Amino acid sequence: MSEVVAAIVAHADDEALGCGGTLAKHVASGDSVYVVFVADGTGSRSEGQSEGALALQQRQRAAIDAVSKIGAQSPIFLDLPDNQLDALSLLEVIKTLEPVLTEIDPTIIYTHHGGDLNIDHRTVCQAVMTIFRPMPSSGVKAIYGFETMSSTEWRFDEPRAHFTPNRYVDVSNTFEKKVAALRAYDIEMREFPHPRSIKAVEALATYRGATVGCTLAEAFTVLRQVDF
Ligand SMILES: [Zn+2]
Repeated sequence: MSEVVAAIVAHADDEALGCGGTLAKHVASGDSVYVVFVADGTGSRSEGQSEGALALQQRQRAAIDAVSKIGAQSPIFLDLPDNQLDALSLLEVIKTLEPVLTEIDPTIIYTHHGGDLNIDHRTVCQAVMTIFRPMPSSGVKAIYGFETMSSTEWRFDEPRAHFTPNRYVDVSNTFEKKVAALRAYDIEMREFPHPRSIKAVEALATYRGATVGCTLAEAFTVLRQVDF
């Protein structure tokens, strides 16, 4: 049976970094894949207002391109303020996100690891877990948390919040698509040894793969899994 997969992420590029290979694998299996960007509105980025709007357009164009490289549906942008999700109440974030997710009605969900350093990542995870709290009518089979280099590994406090994966997806056959999606974000990518460089992403996938005996993998935490 084909699944309806939703990747719910804060920023354009989080989906490619965190689960691009896995999403492409879902597409290859015949699943419908949706990507929702929660926080790419003009926020605390250093540009002036018009430059900020221009950068936003550029990021959204890159996101449309990246998502198409993975083979997902056209992305959904919610445009909440970037890097300032904590300035909104959790309820405001949920009110914006919930109608979109009700429409998609996913069976499998990917979102941020709840212990990331980045506040937007943490807020999105919390909103997703609240919206999809277990209910008798829920068709959600699984919620997985992904890692985002330059945020997940930078969490310095709360050892219990550190990313400890317990689900691995072999992405050896779709890693090229992940890289193609990341290349669409050339404005966000950096030169190695920055963690957001293609070489560092490949190094992580190699390490995650070797951990479980395959060439390249993406790693997740199982936030919830239900067999109906
Ligand atoms: Zn992000």
